[in-house]
Amino acid sequence: MNPTTNHAYSAIQGNLANASNERIIVERMTETDPLNLAGMIAGLQPVGATVAKAAEWFAAVIGKEHVLCDDASRFEYSKSTLPRSTTPAIIVRPGSVSEVQQIVKGASIFGLKPHAISRGKNWGYGDACAQRDGQLIVDLRRMNRIVEINEELAYAVIEPGVTQGQLAEELLAQGARLMLDVTGAGPDASIVGNILQRGFGHTPYGDRVAHSCNYQVVLPDGTIKQTGFGDVTGSNVGHVYPYGNGPCTQGLFAQSHAGIVTRMTIWLMPHYERVIGFGFKTNETEVFALIVDRIGQLRRDGTIGSVVHIANDIRVLSTQRTMKEHSDNRAPLTAVERAAMAKEAGIGQWNGLGGLYGSRRIVSAKKKEIKKAFKDICPIRFFCKWQVRTLKRVSCHLPSSTLFDPVRNISTTIADVYDLLCGTPSNKHLEGAFCRNRPKSGEVIDAGLIWISPVIPCSGKDAKRLVSAMAPIANGHGFDLPITISPVTPRSAVCVTNICFNKLDNDESKRASLCYKDLSSAINNLGYPPYRKASTD
Ligand SMILES: Cc1cc2nc3c(=O)[nH]c(=O)nc-3n(C[C@H](O)[C@H](O)[C@H](O)COP(=O)(O)OP(=O)(O)OC[C@H]3O[C@@H](n4cnc5c(N)ncnc54)[C@H](O)[C@@H]3O)c2cc1C
Repeated sequence: MNPTTNHAYSAIQGNLANASNERIIVERMTETDPLNLAGMIAGLQPVGATVAKAAEWFAAVIGKEHVLCDDASRFEYSKSTLPRSTTPAIIVRPGSVSEVQQIVKGASIFGLKPHAISRGKNWGYGDACAQRDGQLIVDLRRMNRIVEINEELAYAVIEPGVTQGQLAEELLAQGARLMLDVTGAGPDASIVGNILQRGFGHTPYGDRVAHSCNYQVVLPDGTIKQTGFGDVTGSNVGHVYPYGNGPCTQGLFAQSHAGIVTRMTIWLMPHYERVIGFGFKTNETEVFALIVDRIGQLRRDGTIGSVVHIANDIRVLSTQRTMKEHSDNRAPLTAVERAAMAKEAGIGQWNGLGGLYGSRRIVSAKKKEIKKAFKDICPIRFFCKWQVRTLKRVSCHLPSSTLFDPVRNISTTIADVYDLLCGTPSNKHLEGAFCRNRPKSGEVIDAGLIWISPVIPCSGKDAKRLVSAMAPIANGHGFDLPITISPVTPRSAVCVTNICFNKLDNDESKRASLCYKDLSSAINNLGYPPYRKASTD
């Protein structure tokens, strides 16, 4: 940031903090986005207009009730799970693409930098916050129409405010024989915002951005761009073919601020005749490395078509009662404590869960191949729908003795994961955000959470190298490190780790920031950059 801009931002920040009803002068924001497309904004010349005037202008265009610039609203949108957050100048909630076009034009007139959010549930990655203080939040929650569900070609056309819960329910309500990929972020998270961050889920369409196309985008100058063949008049293939002639432009709009996506086509999966889960566990680091290698091979030869999640004990425990009981003790768990808790929970040091999809014959053939591939590594268990249900029913009727805790824990974990494998979003996985501290509100936004998610080649050697570098850093700062290794593509895996901390404890928040910094340098030095960064980074 250059000194002029720095000065401008400090001025805004100071004004926002101190002068609730005073007019705030928003000076020229000269920072460019990574693609330098912000230069397209016609009104980037200094205008020195006031936020109050801008708010009036937006109110005239989209209605007063959809423009927020009072302190309480700005505070709501400045809430973050991260130690650092930003406060917006104004929040607008457009209801249509033409309103978004007007807003973008208004933003340029008043020198405000827009930041679009679809649902703003970007927990642990910046939440609903913009990059800088004093920006214009364009909250697209009102644009929540499911425009089309096409059962024959298995796709849906959605607006950004559509949540994964909403689409899952609509598919059920319509009796459509289709399912969507879901993430662990719960029913209220968006689909579009997640895809634009290259988020991933659990099913064969877990690499979500690879199963989306035909973006309708409002560019910084207010014009509308449609990606792929959606841009060609009379084309019938925009929803089913991601490319056009020439460069593939949809990639320009992921993890960038190059435009506001107002509509997207996402591909859905046909209802599979059979979905079975599989699980394995080990306490041996060498076996864990072999597993990562073997899963990679099975992904590449097509036996496993979905995203497998290989989680350490801390990750699995993080959603369970035992971990929460420990959370009053601020020191990281010792190896002995971890082993005891893992035993009680019926899990190993490393635990894998994945899904097989297809017809009965195909799934049964894949099952045989996987059994063969794991024969010399570790036992592997398979579970189908009725087994998951029966296990859950039986475990509910077990005597309350702690003797049965492992069965109860395992049956709950398996049932929760099986839901995700079948495209049913659930709030249960959000419990992981509270493993160190549960805020009174019980809301994720009030927890302290930072994700650090490096990409590695899908190889045991790299997985071991990364884990042995990251875990001691987190422990050294006083934190346990939940880890999940997920081969999102056949050749690469994303290693999702996180720091959970108590936001109300200043010392702990500072340590969390330092820990994040150290972990970030470590992964970059190892050559494993994060697949996604916080919106405030
Ligand atoms: C316990 C827990 C589990 C989680 N599990 C997962 C998981 O399994 N997989 C996963 O990927 N994430 C996961 N997350 C992280 C996060 O919560 C999700 O990625 C969530 O989907 C992001 O919020 P959102 O969809 O509402 O996106 P938003 O917050 O609306 O958007 C995120 C960012 O995308 C950009 N953006 C959004 N909409 C637009 C638009 N229309 N046009 C242009 N740019 C836009 C902006 O930069 C915005 O800040 C998890 C979080 C928690 C706490």
